[in-house]
Amino acid sequence: MSKTSASRIVGPDATALTERSRLAFDLDVDIAVVGAGLAGLTVALEAARLGASVAVLEGRHVGWNASGHQLGTVMPGYGLPIGDLIARIGFEDTRELWALSRQGAEYVRANATEELIPGIALSGGALEVSNVEIGDKLIARLQMLGEDFETEVEGWQVDRVRAELKTDRYFHGVYYPKAFQIDGRNYVHGLAALARRAGARIFEDTPVVSIDPSGIRKRIVTPSARLRASHIVLAGNIHLGAPLRRLSETLLPVWRYAALTAPLGDKLAETIAFRGSVIDSDGIDHFRVVEGDRLMWASPETTWAVSPARFAPAIARRIRTIFPQLGPVEIAEAWSGAIGQTVHGMPQIGQLRKGLWVASGFGRQGLNTTAMAGQLIARSIFWGDERWRLFSPFELVWAGGTTGRVAGYAIGMWQRGSSAAAGALARYRERARTKERISEARLAEANRQAGTRAPQRRPPPGRPRPQGPQRPAPVNREGEGGS
Ligand SMILES: Cc1cc2nc3c(=O)[nH]c(=O)nc-3n(C[C@H](O)[C@H](O)[C@H](O)COP(=O)(O)OP(=O)(O)OC[C@H]3O[C@@H](n4cnc5c(N)ncnc54)[C@H](O)[C@@H]3O)c2cc1C
Repeated sequence: MSKTSASRIVGPDATALTERSRLAFDLDVDIAVVGAGLAGLTVALEAARLGASVAVLEGRHVGWNASGHQLGTVMPGYGLPIGDLIARIGFEDTRELWALSRQGAEYVRANATEELIPGIALSGGALEVSNVEIGDKLIARLQMLGEDFETEVEGWQVDRVRAELKTDRYFHGVYYPKAFQIDGRNYVHGLAALARRAGARIFEDTPVVSIDPSGIRKRIVTPSARLRASHIVLAGNIHLGAPLRRLSETLLPVWRYAALTAPLGDKLAETIAFRGSVIDSDGIDHFRVVEGDRLMWASPETTWAVSPARFAPAIARRIRTIFPQLGPVEIAEAWSGAIGQTVHGMPQIGQLRKGLWVASGFGRQGLNTTAMAGQLIARSIFWGDERWRLFSPFELVWAGGTTGRVAGYAIGMWQRGSSAAAGALARYRERARTKERISEARLAEANRQAGTRAPQRRPPPGRPRPQGPQRPAPVNREGEGGS
């Protein structure tokens, strides 16, 4: 994936630290993994820890795509909201899937120690903020997460959110104290180092050009070698291509763009006090403060690849829209990664035929879910753990080819447009209410000084006149039309 600058600002360029080795000789292993992203590397690490001989075949280099360009936020759950999951598969299975997603997050936490992965920089807490007022929905959601899904959460009122993030763009928030963030680039390269240490062999610059999954020993062809394995795990995400094109076509490729600002000085701390990850509930913005006074921010998406340099100004504008007090923001580095979005919004995890496994479609939330997939597949191969079957209701659905990409982009734009419009309306209502309250206070004060009582509002026709004290009718309403 491309970057606007070759220099590394967040963490070392770990790709340069390891010497790449290409598969140049034929090989026989227990498990062959296609793809050295988070999914493939976790399968490899877990399978090697369980004693298998493992080879990972990577067409470019470790973390080349999304896995080496993510923001490192680790949360429970999936891209698909809990309510939609319950509607689709029922409450009990949703609970089990949710528990697996939490275990995935804990798996990342267990690996993400400074001893195992130097420079991992783990810090705690993530905040999901809403672009609209969702007070009542928030309470229901908190209850469900806390009581039914055993997930530690706190509901933050608007004032609390705005004390931490000085913007009128966000309203309520759900705080996940057990969520955390890590240096995403260091994590994927650390995972590769752990897998190697456990005995897995990782071959880079080794694209898999075809596979023959029939028979007990399956065959893989690369440009300069052949490989035989009892199990093949396809973890190539959207780039899998020729070896199983029908599988690639079940994913809608979505390029997500991110950037790191130049140091922003003290004004950043005055604007953003919160030190964990912030994610808005519409999936538009995702950011956090790094290195004390820089912002790392992911925002726009496209369904075809565009140079990240072209999106740097858009990200700077987005930051300024949310936090105008930061003034013009200089972007020091911009990058992108392609995520695979499934039609149903859930990852593809499971066995396609005996010994042929798939782990892909992790969307925007890939850290906990790839960790979970790696564990599920390795444990199924070795221990017969069948919990991957919980993903069976989410079949491989064709994502619509080029037409699907155009439609996906249009739907994405429409969703962003509609949530932006809902956000604008919510802010308008809030301003109107504030103005109304100020007018009422002024009127009450004027009445108090004049020693008069406020005029009574007439009830609508047909409704009994209320008995209790009445609210003064506002005069000189500036924000007419708000509710
Ligand atoms: C900007 C951005 C920010 C993100 N932030 C977060 C975040 O904060 N938290 C979070 O949980 N998720 C985040 N994500 C999502 C997360 O990065 C992805 O869900 C995850 O990395 C997907 O991992 P993967 O292993 O499935 O795919 P990939 O990372 O795409 O890895 C697949 C690998 O397979 C290789 N490959 C493909 N085909 C072949 C072949 N035929 N032969 C050999 N090799 C092949 C590719 O070269 C590639 O290296 C973010 C994504 C982006 C783009």
